[in-house]
Amino acid sequence: MAAFDVLIAGAGPAGAAAARTLATCAPNLHVAVVAAANGRRCRGEVLSPLAQPVLRQLGLWSAFLAQGFAPSHRTLTAWGEAGLQSSELLLEARGPAWRVDRARFDDWITSAACSAATRIDAKVFTLERDADGWSVDCGDGTRHSARLVIDATGRANALVRRQGRRARAQDRLVAAYAEGTASGQAAQELLVEAFDDGWWYTMSLGEGRHVFVCMTDADIARSLRLNTPHGWHAALAKTQFISAIACKVDRIERLRLVPAGGRSATMPVGFRFLCAGDAANAFDPISGHGVVKAMRSGVFAAYAASDCLVRNDDAALDRYGAWVAREVAAYEAALREHYGSESRWADRPFWRRRCADVSSSSPPLQ
Ligand SMILES: Cc1cc2nc3c(=O)[nH]c(=O)nc-3n(C[C@H](O)[C@H](O)[C@H](O)COP(=O)(O)OP(=O)(O)OC[C@H]3O[C@@H](n4cnc5c(N)ncnc54)[C@H](O)[C@@H]3O)c2cc1C
Repeated sequence: MAAFDVLIAGAGPAGAAAARTLATCAPNLHVAVVAAANGRRCRGEVLSPLAQPVLRQLGLWSAFLAQGFAPSHRTLTAWGEAGLQSSELLLEARGPAWRVDRARFDDWITSAACSAATRIDAKVFTLERDADGWSVDCGDGTRHSARLVIDATGRANALVRRQGRRARAQDRLVAAYAEGTASGQAAQELLVEAFDDGWWYTMSLGEGRHVFVCMTDADIARSLRLNTPHGWHAALAKTQFISAIACKVDRIERLRLVPAGGRSATMPVGFRFLCAGDAANAFDPISGHGVVKAMRSGVFAAYAASDCLVRNDDAALDRYGAWVAREVAAYEAALREHYGSESRWADRPFWRRRCADVSSSSPPLQ
């Protein structure tokens, strides 16, 4: 007999939301969360206002507020035209967006949401089918069996890969990420600026720390030598507003390139197997919804797992898979629309690749 009913691999926003939901909707299920040490390499992210309804659904809204993350009432963008536009969130019914240090946010949500599950601090290395479902080998030398497995390992797609399957890459976007400490007053809010080879964003991490991130395609990053301080600063110099903030930063450090492209699992569900969060579909960060989307899919994956195991509803996983497919289709249409609204460099490879197929009927990116 399997030791666990559900084993969740990964304790980021998706895995934590799945564990929390299972604890409330199926408290009799025995759940394990395998949590690899957090190797997060980018710290500054913004949670959209939609974080509030999802965190309320998880019963974690008050606990989130108590963490003291900074609210963000507007986003500044230089996109589609030369000037700076401000999107105010003061009248947004769901409240402000939130600027978070992702390492701190992940530590908080993992401990707040996974308390009812058995936590295994290790990495899943192998995954095999057995008579009762699945068994996994972990990096700490332990082996565990479960009736159903949720892959919430983010872009690593660890359990999908162990089955010999790969994610479908929608583009080859990478992020050239760096941090620095500003010597004087510098804008706190999220600022997004398009340039001829992609786009940049900057935001405050608090206590004078800022992140500066250049988003472009992997081949363009190579030709710009974005992994070197010289190449990174040369690309920064092409911006007007981001470079004005960077001027106030004494020293740029922790420069690194990380994958950031859109991708989706070719099969987000299988026999007693579900993908949640980025493991199911990773969005281009311009969407600004990655964390909220990951938590929401963790909630829905948990409902599907519970329907399958508790109510013997064999169609539950397929219904979840169909929901993931609809979400990907809506996202892709919105993404084309958003990139299509920037036409100043339509002949440059980065923009040409994204604007080839703009449909005027696509909904706007939310
Ligand atoms: C440059 C960049 C900027 C972004 N900015 C934003 C933003 O501003 N706002 C926003 O909402 N989203 C943003 N995103 C997207 C957001 O980071 C992701 O969508 C979100 O983290 C997905 O959550 P997840 O739980 O699916 O995966 P993850 O957060 O990646 O969590 C996966 C977890 O699984 C663990 N793991 C991996 N392999 C294994 C294994 N074999 N065994 C066990 N555990 C494993 C990892 O250590 C990790 O803890 C950004 C992404 C990038 C790349």
